[in-house]
Amino acid sequence: MFFTPHPSDDERREIFEEAFAYNPRHVMLAGYAIENLLKGLLVAAHPERWVFEHRDKLLSWPSGGHDLVQLAKEASVSLNDNEERLVDRIEVYVLWAGRYPVALKAQAMRPRDPMGVEGPATWSSDYDHQVDELYHRLHEMLREAAIARAEGDRIAEESSRAKRGPELLDELKHAYQLFEVDGIVFFRTGEAEAGLRSDSEGHNRAAVGCGGCGAHFVLHVRDQPAVICRCGTLHHAELEYNTNRMMPNVRTYPLGGG
Ligand SMILES: [Zn+2]
Repeated sequence: MFFTPHPSDDERREIFEEAFAYNPRHVMLAGYAIENLLKGLLVAAHPERWVFEHRDKLLSWPSGGHDLVQLAKEASVSLNDNEERLVDRIEVYVLWAGRYPVALKAQAMRPRDPMGVEGPATWSSDYDHQVDELYHRLHEMLREAAIARAEGDRIAEESSRAKRGPELLDELKHAYQLFEVDGIVFFRTGEAEAGLRSDSEGHNRAAVGCGGCGAHFVLHVRDQPAVICRCGTLHHAELEYNTNRMMPNVRTYPLGGG
């Protein structure tokens, strides 16, 4: 490598590429990126299988988690012949060539072809743009899968709240007294006023603004846990464990027509 006092852009690129273009670490990191996208696709498609069953340990991936061709199969990602060869090449760097001079098993040190021309870990900067293409394709697939999953979760959550709303309303009616103030129905205990005033630390209180009608009110998990606001939405506060302490969490339930 040499330096000229005022290199042109082309010269700069050449110098840069010469210094950094090929490096086992960069292939390994590119491999990790592909691996993570494939695992992301698996999780997006079947969280109950890849996450919820293995909460203690996220390592129960097929074939130890670094077999990229296998991961792609599991994730229903079809690779063309070129991509399959590319992924197979990258995998060697993920498994060992990105970090160690030799593999743990002698078998892994065999040449890539019968003539013994290519060593087990060989790379050319020509492969870099192929990696980019695969990366962007997988990234787009993951983005779409994540959007679809979020939409599915939202629909499921909405339907479960629509079902839960009337049940919860019934329970609250039995347990609390109802007061209507300015079109808002409050569910209160007899001690509500005293409780709301004395609980100065506010661990049990939540100030709420309704997104539906703009009404503002204060909920108190013990003394005033719920209201039905002007738009017919039931707001209910419960204590929940959140980042190391109990905090009131307010959920809303549509009651359908108020
Ligand atoms: Zn409202």
